[in-house]
Amino acid sequence: MACNMRTRDLLTGHLIVKRRTGDSSVVRAVVVDRNILVKNTPGSSNLIMKTLTKPQVETVDMDVSKGRFGRFGGKYVPESLITCLAELEAEFNSALRDTAFQAELATALRDYVGRETPLYFAERLTNYYKNSKGEGPEIYLKREDLSHGGAHKINNAIAQAMIAKRMGRKCVVAATGAGQHGVATAAACAKLGLECTIFMGTKDMQKQSSNLRLMKLLGATVESVDGNFKDASSEALRDWMGTMESSYYLTGTVVGPHPHPSMVREFQSVIGKETRRQAMERWGHKPEVLLACVGSGSNALGLFHEFVKDKDVRLIGVEGAGFGLESGSHSATLARGDVGVYHGALSYLLQDEEGQIVEPHSIGVGLEYPGVSPELSYLKDTGRAEFYTATDQEALDAYQLLCRLEGIIPALEASHALAFLNKLCPTLPDGTKVVVNCSGRGDKDVEMLFNHKFHSM
Ligand SMILES: *Cc1c(COP(=O)(O)O)cnc(C)c1O
Repeated sequence: MACNMRTRDLLTGHLIVKRRTGDSSVVRAVVVDRNILVKNTPGSSNLIMKTLTKPQVETVDMDVSKGRFGRFGGKYVPESLITCLAELEAEFNSALRDTAFQAELATALRDYVGRETPLYFAERLTNYYKNSKGEGPEIYLKREDLSHGGAHKINNAIAQAMIAKRMGRKCVVAATGAGQHGVATAAACAKLGLECTIFMGTKDMQKQSSNLRLMKLLGATVESVDGNFKDASSEALRDWMGTMESSYYLTGTVVGPHPHPSMVREFQSVIGKETRRQAMERWGHKPEVLLACVGSGSNALGLFHEFVKDKDVRLIGVEGAGFGLESGSHSATLARGDVGVYHGALSYLLQDEEGQIVEPHSIGVGLEYPGVSPELSYLKDTGRAEFYTATDQEALDAYQLLCRLEGIIPALEASHALAFLNKLCPTLPDGTKVVVNCSGRGDKDVEMLFNHKFHSM
């Protein structure tokens, strides 16, 4: 499929403004970086440039029927992409029903990824949070840090690489922030004999240099892009759109147009399924609280999804408050964002008055994304899940605390969830079973920690 400039701009545009005309909803405009492209007549594909005025954000849809979580999600993409997404969806659904695919995936998860991951009782951390009467919750860590590559990312990367192969694609394109998704994708591609190109922002390359080296070692071509993860994602999408027929875009988290959020969630939900089984075996009942950090939402949903229907299980997501919510320098999309469209889906989004993206910031580089999972956006609106934030400093403290108390080095991303234990634990009844998703290991963050001015405890 030919990739023209307009198509590319439309895909990376993050906001679509709609005006209702009679009974039909028409896309009126797409904001692309600093420009706004406006449809001059409803229904035409003719786009003209316009000056930006404060847009009226409403839902708009090109395919309302699928991939919706309440008002969130959808497929906000140009028509030329619809076929491609439909093909992917068909392949994903057929893989789900294919027992051979499921068996191959189960083997890979067991022998390659190292599943199941342990549900570890953090005894000293539990004691640390006991009150003066010796009461407090019991804290367990779901050890995704022990997965191959050091994070939950591989659960999804290996499964999608298998889908790419089923579709006959020879190369895989992906974007990475902290580099965990890049490493997981590069590893999965090496295992399956696929070519792999990873786009990474120059800022992130400096911060997460060990992962950059690992990706190269695993045989991936790494393309540097000025900026950070959001810039790398846009560039990776542009690149992929030029080679759609032979390459596969491997999403790292539960964002993007349908079926991406559902597909990634499906592949990550193994985390919650194992947690239920392990909890039942060990305690004979479900955990009472599930806690996970939220970047774009895949490790959180991976843990939560299995329990969404169990209303007696609290689901708590923790976003990066960076230098503090009031500083404006954070990645708390659910806490502080407004609804908008970005990279093909409707979700909460960090944007300014004019609908331009606000740069996210977190010391957990993997949390820096202006959008967030449409499904988590929905769980926020319905009140099914609760969302809080932890600052850079709180995450750094939690990182070091886990190192000292348990001898486990958590990723700075996961440290945001751990940091929230400070506020959560005093509010919980004695013996409450809390499962924290330890989404990854923090070896990659050691240099950053020691370069950081707050490294003393
Ligand atoms: C990528 C990453 C995250 C953030 O991504 P989610 O999609 O929110 O899970 C969190 N923790 C680790 C260790 C990561 O690598």
